[in-house]
Amino acid sequence: MATAKKAKALTPPQTLKPAARKAAIEGVAAEKARAIAAKEPVAKKIKRGKTAKPLAPERVTAILDALRKTYPNVVCALTHRNAFELTIATILSAQTTDVGVNKATPQLFKLYPTPKALAAASLPEIEELIHNTGFYRAKAKNIQGAARVLVERFGGKVPQTVAEMIELPGVARKTANVVLGSWYGIASGVVVDTHVLRLSRRLELTKNTDPVKVEKDLQKVIPQDRWIQFSHELIHHGRQVCSARKPRCVDCSLETLCNSVDKTWSSH
Ligand code: SF4
Repeated sequence: MATAKKAKALTPPQTLKPAARKAAIEGVAAEKARAIAAKEPVAKKIKRGKTAKPLAPERVTAILDALRKTYPNVVCALTHRNAFELTIATILSAQTTDVGVNKATPQLFKLYPTPKALAAASLPEIEELIHNTGFYRAKAKNIQGAARVLVERFGGKVPQTVAEMIELPGVARKTANVVLGSWYGIASGVVVDTHVLRLSRRLELTKNTDPVKVEKDLQKVIPQDRWIQFSHELIHHGRQVCSARKPRCVDCSLETLCNSVDKTWSSH
């Protein structure tokens, strides 16, 4: 049974172009033949390990090009109509999915469409509206607190610097970067969420696990004019292909560039 599962995981995808598919089939066959001859499990034959020069400019450029080609014009998945809504939605997105946040925010913003309205709302009513996003008591306090700071400190407008943004309750660098990048088009940093962190490590763009350190590492190797889109692309790739538990390497446009120990299929 285990062998059958491994063989299935090594089957090249139908989506590959004919030549690539043929090469993949030959590669897999050779891989399996060697494994059988050596009486070793096939999975052990997948090449895993370290890339010789993971931060070489040509490798980083190849990763960026593949991501851009795979996810052209990708945007933030949180529904919003302005910087205020995006700020609130991003605060709510902590520890939950964008889909869940998008279910809660239409009614929230219908009832409280401005920082002033949200600042004056009743806390229990906010809690009820955002209940499905989890940690709703803390989040309700944060979004109302953020609305109040926006009214009292910034004239009801979302500021355009990280230093000012992180004065808002519930806002750290990640949220600040999301809003500044996605709404204002300001490349203030690289958004490091759970997907960006995991994929940056799998692609050997960082060895760190602390999001602030990971962001610093990424800022060194990714050109600043790619910071905003790179984050969106990596987040989409993490959701659609390179999942935490079972990355679909067989369908991955970065596969030839990746030597992650987490790979489930390899062409090289
Ligand atoms: S090859 Fe696999 S582990 Fe590497 S980036 Fe693609 S899906 Fe993720």
